[in-house]
Amino acid sequence: MSHTAEILAVGTELLLGNIVNTNAQAISQSLSALGINVFWHTVVGDNPERLKEALDIARRRADIIITTGGLGPTYDDLTKQTICEAFGQRLVLHPEILEDIRSFYETSLHVPMPENNTQQAELPENGVIFDNPVGTAPGCAFESGGVHVLMLPGPPHEMSTMLRRCAEPYLRRLSHEVIVSRDIMTFGMGESSVEELLRSRMTHMTNPTLATYAKPFEVRLRATAKAASEEEALAMLAPVEKMVRSTLGDIVYGVDVSGLAEACLGLLKDKGLTLATAESCTGGMAAERLTAIPGASAVYRGGVVSYWTSVKGDVLQVPQEILDTYGPVSAECARAMAEGARKITGADIAVSVTGAAGPDPDERGVPVGIVYVGLAAPEGTFCRSLDLGRRRRDRIQGLAANHAFDVVRRYLTGLPV
Ligand code: ATP
Repeated sequence: MSHTAEILAVGTELLLGNIVNTNAQAISQSLSALGINVFWHTVVGDNPERLKEALDIARRRADIIITTGGLGPTYDDLTKQTICEAFGQRLVLHPEILEDIRSFYETSLHVPMPENNTQQAELPENGVIFDNPVGTAPGCAFESGGVHVLMLPGPPHEMSTMLRRCAEPYLRRLSHEVIVSRDIMTFGMGESSVEELLRSRMTHMTNPTLATYAKPFEVRLRATAKAASEEEALAMLAPVEKMVRSTLGDIVYGVDVSGLAEACLGLLKDKGLTLATAESCTGGMAAERLTAIPGASAVYRGGVVSYWTSVKGDVLQVPQEILDTYGPVSAECARAMAEGARKITGADIAVSVTGAAGPDPDERGVPVGIVYVGLAAPEGTFCRSLDLGRRRRDRIQGLAANHAFDVVRRYLTGLPV
């Protein structure tokens, strides 16, 4: 039997827009992987009457209710009391939990436990307790009239620890299906074009399914299968990936990678090569995206943000003649920047970006959106010339950085740059 869940986030801060409901996102992702349908996300403030109303609605349409927040020791933390009242559960003091909370205060926080924390050790009499190794509020779960209620704390790191360690095993025992997704990553075509190429197949798919998601500057395709086991789901997804690759060709750059930067680092590691960057209009964005990935230091040597023309000449050794004749936004300059970065860092390959990000044309009148990506490699130097159009400055920069990575990944996979 498939289950239907509702996620009920408790907290006035959420309703006021002070914080984003990231807990609901994390729980939904986890439930989807467990094969549990999530049909509703509800947010309710710290108010017992409205929480009761929300619970009344939730228990009629879902057989799993997962709450977050309101398990703390303060007066507005009323989730547990209200839920237990609504479901006729008695709260009882668990001395061993009280001891855990007291010792968390004394050994981790080095202060005595405030007396009002005692109520955190009061938990449903006939339930399961979820311990909280990274905070004080334990969570809990119980079943009443065919509805499972799971209560998790509000702070996201406490919630996610408890979700992984306690709630997922509890739910796994209820569910007989798993949902597995694979993210097929593409760069080089807009979302509507990608969808158009795949639409006739996508609309007829029910299990597995295929959906497109526009990520900033690229398109992600998510293939999802529901099956009795992970192996079975993966076997169902393999032909979908094959179909997407054969339809879209080499704009598919990876599966289950976070982005082009990660794909490039993976390729560099596989081939035992190192990379350097020389950036102008992207202002270090490519370097930042590479170094955001743990382990980048194994293959990324470093980069130069050569924003002023004089830095292109003095640091990257772009010949003055190129700067005078073609200007800093030119294919010739992009090539020379990449060569300079390769030379001064000793990297195997170097990629460069120079362009007019706007909002005004550059001083030589190069229109907004004109970008050149250079690549210096042992085989020679290449350049990709782009007209990214009159987009917003940050979009031109983000897209230009992606083109730099795309040039690198194409070179490394033997595709034309
Ligand atoms: P505490 O023991 O800290 O009081 P609690 O279980 O009572 O925990 P809340 O007081 O409701 O939780 O929330 C604590 C903090 O957790 C909030 O200030 C907020 O920063 C974060 N938080 C709460 N709910 C969410 C949510 N749904 N998504 C993201 N963050 C949340």
